[in-house]
Amino acid sequence: MSLSFDPSSVTLPRGHFIGGEWVDAKDGIDLHRPSDAAAFAACPVGDAGLVDRAVAAAKAALAESGWGRLAPRERARALHRWADLIEAEAETLARLEAIASTRPISELMAGDVPVTAEQIRFFAEFADKEGGNLVPTGSDSFGMIATEPYGVVGAITPWNFPINMAGWKLGPALAAGNAVVLKPSEMTPFATLYLAELSVRAGLPAGLVNIVLGDGRTTGTAITGHPDIAKVSFTGSTAAGAAIMENIARTGIKPMTLELGGKSPQLVFADADLPLAAGAIARSILGNAGQACVAGSRLIVAESVAEELVGLIVERMRTVRPGATWDAASAYSPIISERQIGRMTGIVHAAVARGATCRLGGERLDHAGYFYAPTVLEGVDASSPAVTEEIFGPVLTVQTFREEEEGLGLADHPTYGLCAGLYTRDLSRALRAIDRLQAGTVWVNRYGRSRDHILPTGGYKQSGLGKDLGREAYLANRKSKSVLIAV
Ligand code: NAD
Repeated sequence: MSLSFDPSSVTLPRGHFIGGEWVDAKDGIDLHRPSDAAAFAACPVGDAGLVDRAVAAAKAALAESGWGRLAPRERARALHRWADLIEAEAETLARLEAIASTRPISELMAGDVPVTAEQIRFFAEFADKEGGNLVPTGSDSFGMIATEPYGVVGAITPWNFPINMAGWKLGPALAAGNAVVLKPSEMTPFATLYLAELSVRAGLPAGLVNIVLGDGRTTGTAITGHPDIAKVSFTGSTAAGAAIMENIARTGIKPMTLELGGKSPQLVFADADLPLAAGAIARSILGNAGQACVAGSRLIVAESVAEELVGLIVERMRTVRPGATWDAASAYSPIISERQIGRMTGIVHAAVARGATCRLGGERLDHAGYFYAPTVLEGVDASSPAVTEEIFGPVLTVQTFREEEEGLGLADHPTYGLCAGLYTRDLSRALRAIDRLQAGTVWVNRYGRSRDHILPTGGYKQSGLGKDLGREAYLANRKSKSVLIAV
């Protein structure tokens, strides 16, 4: 059966989802489908009053259901039922996601949707396996570290992998015993809304998962500054992360997890398996058309193999299959908006004006919607915005080095440190480089996450604060209490 579908046949959820019920809303921000630029819906903007209502619903759900104090296996069982329903409703979720976002339906069905269910199962299994600790203290006392949920967690997600990012936030927060008020990106809210509805159908207490729609300035600010939101978990740009920190500092201190932008290097030494490296690098910059925080957007290659490697990468990047996200044959994503196309066009043109050459692409594709050609920029200087700024598009810059030390120096970005790719057959060199690379994740002779949810993800430098996924994400959703009892 083909996965292709007619986008006009899909009924979109309208309004916010609070306390297990749909809350109607007036139209808000106009939305255009990235695949064909057609205006198709509007995203309401929830104000501070509505955020209040969602927080009250979350608190009531916690109080009435006792979610945070349930036998942990009960929480796990409920979350597994939700994951079952996500798998059963995969097609509906994928369609809702495909319409508004840049994610092709085939990739959603093979990846994003089942991975979201897996993430929820993964965190469900921590519920009865992570507890407090007895700790050695003096013989006159008995010491322990107890842990407990925060209460209501505020979560804010971006548009690039909408339901996966919702899974990153909801899985650990709920498994750890919290309720959540989540604001998805105003550009891609629909599948996340349905995910929340499925949580209620799976038997999770109504009000445990609340979705308030809106933009960053109004709705996002109301969430991060709300006095009854005890912890904030954010994924998005570094600029928005900084604004959130500021708002949290102004409105009351609370813990926050920030997963922010990146400009990750792909460091290739002369002894590397070049076809393997070329495949991994091309995939990393073509995936979601480069609109991934982990995109490996800076190729830093030993001069002696640069020509051969760039040739292999260009060969792989040349053949993409752009198409509407609702067409099962599409295998190259559109760009999220006209504005983003304009931004990447400006950065590429500025690089060329400073002496770079476009070995491939460098322009918008002649295709309906917002598509940009896979692009390889050679001869870029280290201070060019093409090298320093996160482009968030299918643009790979190329820089070369002679000595190991020079390559490591180029790999080190002044502000970002999310991920790094490293390609060499020399184990000693790999270990030296792993030690030096300032990145939260280093991939060696491969690039990109697979279904390894146990590995935490998060950035060094201005790429973030704290971790998503892994045991760390679960623990970050519980606070610890030190207890000393006289005996
Ligand atoms: P964005 O920062 O523009 O928006 C992200 C979310 O934050 C949206 O829901 C938005 O409405 C909200 N927001 C914006 N300003 C806010 C504010 N002041 N207060 C509260 N909320 C606010 O980012 P985007 O364009 O949606 O996503 C792309 C960015 O996300 C890229 O920089 C990318 O690298 C980053 N990202 C990072 C990771 C990671 O794991 N590090 C993963 C995915 C995306």
